[in-house]
Amino acid sequence: MKIGFIGLGNMGGPMARNLLKAGHQLTVSDLSQSAVAGLVEAGASAAASIAELARSDVEMIITMLPAAPHVKSVYLGEDGLLANVAPQVRLIDSSTIDPMSAREVAAAAEKQGNRMVDAPVSGGTGGATAGTLTFMVGGDKADFDVALPVLQAMGKNIVHCGPSGNGQVAKVANNMLLAITMIGTAEAMNLGVSLGMDPAVLAGIINTSSGRNWSSDTYNPYPGVMDNVPASRGYTGGFGTDLMLKDLGLATEAAKQARQPVILGGLAQQLYQTFSSQGNGALDFSAIIKLYNGAIK
Ligand code: NAD
Repeated sequence: MKIGFIGLGNMGGPMARNLLKAGHQLTVSDLSQSAVAGLVEAGASAAASIAELARSDVEMIITMLPAAPHVKSVYLGEDGLLANVAPQVRLIDSSTIDPMSAREVAAAAEKQGNRMVDAPVSGGTGGATAGTLTFMVGGDKADFDVALPVLQAMGKNIVHCGPSGNGQVAKVANNMLLAITMIGTAEAMNLGVSLGMDPAVLAGIINTSSGRNWSSDTYNPYPGVMDNVPASRGYTGGFGTDLMLKDLGLATEAAKQARQPVILGGLAQQLYQTFSSQGNGALDFSAIIKLYNGAIK
């Protein structure tokens, strides 16, 4: 397929490379000229601007941008995608943004005849490179079916979540729960160890008992309990505290608009904000255990 790709950062760069590997023809654009040059070297063509990419010979355009303001400016801006793209071109936004903004952009696209789905991902930069991302897709089923073979070049688990915006709904709900379970696991591990338990024995009990969860059995925040997790390498790599903070902001904002309580989600946001404001924004999100125990390195 002839595909345009905008946003070649930590995630978009490797995703675009996987599209090339799968034999798709790619035209790319990014504010960073070095990101564009890397993809051109791998076989893509470069467009000088969003407008030029939108007007080029593409059948589908995928965007992977930092946050909602970037997505709105790229799609809705005066010289943006929608102002320049031909009606039959299909649009996929894989950025993580709030569901309301996703629905607003998709409605504007639809109004001028461009089918659009939101398709945020989980799986991190490792999954983007390996082509094993999970895509949570919101939009019409017929549009999901067209997007599916293209997304399969970048991901393994591709799920239709319902109408427009529902991909983002699934993403914010899951990540809010992840933050809550991580904080709960950190709290329980720290309590048990302070009361005299060996951390590995305690984790073993939790992981075969009713407290078991992904943060306890796959990504335990206590150092030394598991190999190959950020807690065992000084909380480097993994999923950064500030990225988790961004996703919690999306969850609480979406909750405000839906007039629904997110009591633990709001508390989790404040705990991560406190932790980030203490200079820990770049540490993996499991480092939140340091809020309980400053002696943990
Ligand atoms: P990033 O900051 O590394 O990349 C974003 C890219 O978009 C940059 O190259 C930037 O130059 C480009 N860009 C910004 N504004 C632009 C514009 N107006 N025109 C053209 N290019 C523009 O971000 P990332 O880590 O690749 O994340 C992208 C999205 O994926 C975010 O919404 C993030 O929340 C989500 N996400 C990230 C991860 C992760 O582990 N990094 C995991 C899951 C989801």
